[in-house]
Amino acid sequence: MHKPCSIWPLYIRPETGYGVKVVDGRKLPAHRWVYCKHHGLPYPAIAGKVVMHTCDTPACVEPAHLVLGSQADNMRDMINKGATIRCEAVSTTQLH
Ligand SMILES: [Zn+2]
Repeated sequence: MHKPCSIWPLYIRPETGYGVKVVDGRKLPAHRWVYCKHHGLPYPAIAGKVVMHTCDTPACVEPAHLVLGSQADNMRDMINKGATIRCEAVSTTQLH
């Protein structure tokens, strides 16, 4: 069953749309912090990795929507989405 998004209830950085978690005076992206906490990982364990949202909602911190990937996965994901947007743009143009 698909879980609804849990939007970070505290500060959300307007530039990125990501929630911000303050730990020992350091501002961490909330979804990364939640991912570590949920999986029992120390925060440095995901250094160099990206925590991606399967729901495309940057402020979401629902652990079921967070997946760990490499920067390459993230790029591929964006390219796939870009391709979808381009296809839609083409079909819209054809309607006119
Ligand atoms: Zn979500």
